[in-house]
Amino acid sequence: MNKVLIIGAGGVGQVVAVKCALNSDIFHEIILASRTIEKCEKIKKYVEEKYKKDIIIDKVDADYSDNVVKIIEKYKPSFVINVALPYQDLSIMEACLKTGVSYMDTANYEPYDNPSYNYEAQWAFHEKYKERGITAILGCGFDPGTTQAFVAYAAKHHFDEIHYLDIVDCNAGTHGKPFATNFNPEVNLREITQNGKYYENGKLIETKPLEISRILTYPEIGPRKSYLIFHEELDSLVKNFPSLKRARFWMTFSDEYLTHLRVLQNIGMTSIKPVKYKGFDVVPLEFLKEILPRPAELGPNYKGFTSIGCRIRGIKDGKERTYYIYNNCSHEAAYQETGTQAIAYTTGVSAVTGVIMFFKGYWNKPGVWNVEQFDPDPYLEELAKQGLPWHELFDIDLEVD
Ligand code: NDP
Repeated sequence: MNKVLIIGAGGVGQVVAVKCALNSDIFHEIILASRTIEKCEKIKKYVEEKYKKDIIIDKVDADYSDNVVKIIEKYKPSFVINVALPYQDLSIMEACLKTGVSYMDTANYEPYDNPSYNYEAQWAFHEKYKERGITAILGCGFDPGTTQAFVAYAAKHHFDEIHYLDIVDCNAGTHGKPFATNFNPEVNLREITQNGKYYENGKLIETKPLEISRILTYPEIGPRKSYLIFHEELDSLVKNFPSLKRARFWMTFSDEYLTHLRVLQNIGMTSIKPVKYKGFDVVPLEFLKEILPRPAELGPNYKGFTSIGCRIRGIKDGKERTYYIYNNCSHEAAYQETGTQAIAYTTGVSAVTGVIMFFKGYWNKPGVWNVEQFDPDPYLEELAKQGLPWHELFDIDLEVD
């Protein structure tokens, strides 16, 4: 019997719970646990009322590995899906190792007091997971996640060598709020206020935050200003595809968004250093998170599409070729199906598709792996069936030279 324990009841947790419930031939029992039980109750109610499916809920503070061990021992799941925050990755991985249960997350580990991320701390579990006979699938959301399956698919079917990779992430949706982030505000703002970084000729090159921008044209959306930022999947992709001469990541931000961000930064609201307020330690970014709209609740008025894909240049049969593989996802359709918006949808659907790959035996190999290390074919076939169809364009102007 396939029993999953989902940890984290935010926007992504909601999509994962819904999609597991809709695939009851594969997910026989679903347990959703999170720090705030009321958020689990809300998701349970949604799934029960809309889809007449039952999920078990519980409370866990996953900052502490022992708590995760206890809840795993209580329910004995065959797989743990971590869609809490990147700060909990190591404590949950540790608990899975102790109890012998396979693991997945959608964002790589980040220490709370140091907003810098890379896979080293999680890759360090590889030998131990292998010996224990369990699997960890790291970063299986859309980006990271599906973008890596896109690259693996391109390398397998369309290129002899891939040389240039640009991952492009556009949110062309509008939610009607002056300022909101599309996933956890703390994690999101930490990500985009850091220095940009990209790989070129084996070196990691650093830029100032949002220093480099380009106008890129997104299918069925049009031109959007896109900014070079660092994204974790670049670290594993350059390792697993050593033919890459350059790998970059671009994300769109509106001028309105960036103006708000600049003001918030200038007045210290994005800081993670505690300040004393009426005798209490208050972390400005944590306080900001409390007053910003909750990403999980942006859905009802969200219109428009996301468009995320990979633009690749390389060699096939001695000739240069360009290739673009992408998915466009509608915020409105995502809301209709799961009660939340397309960013959470693309992440959650990718995660559930990855777990289906595990249960079907395609991605079930002991050790700690990034998505591009598995066969992309069954994954991408299933992803389209689960609600994220993808498209390919060949020999076009990639706009990223
Ligand atoms: P939310 O903030 O909406 O939800 C996070 C959930 O985790 C909340 O329910 C929160 O509980 C819970 N949580 C936080 N800390 C703990 C803890 N110590 N123990 C148990 N539960 C905890 O985030 P999202 O749903 O937007 O994002 C979830 C994850 O998905 C993040 O890691 C994010 O980085 C990742 N992500 C990945 C993407 C991809 O494409 N790869 C894209 C978007 C997101 P509480 O409400 O009590 O704080």
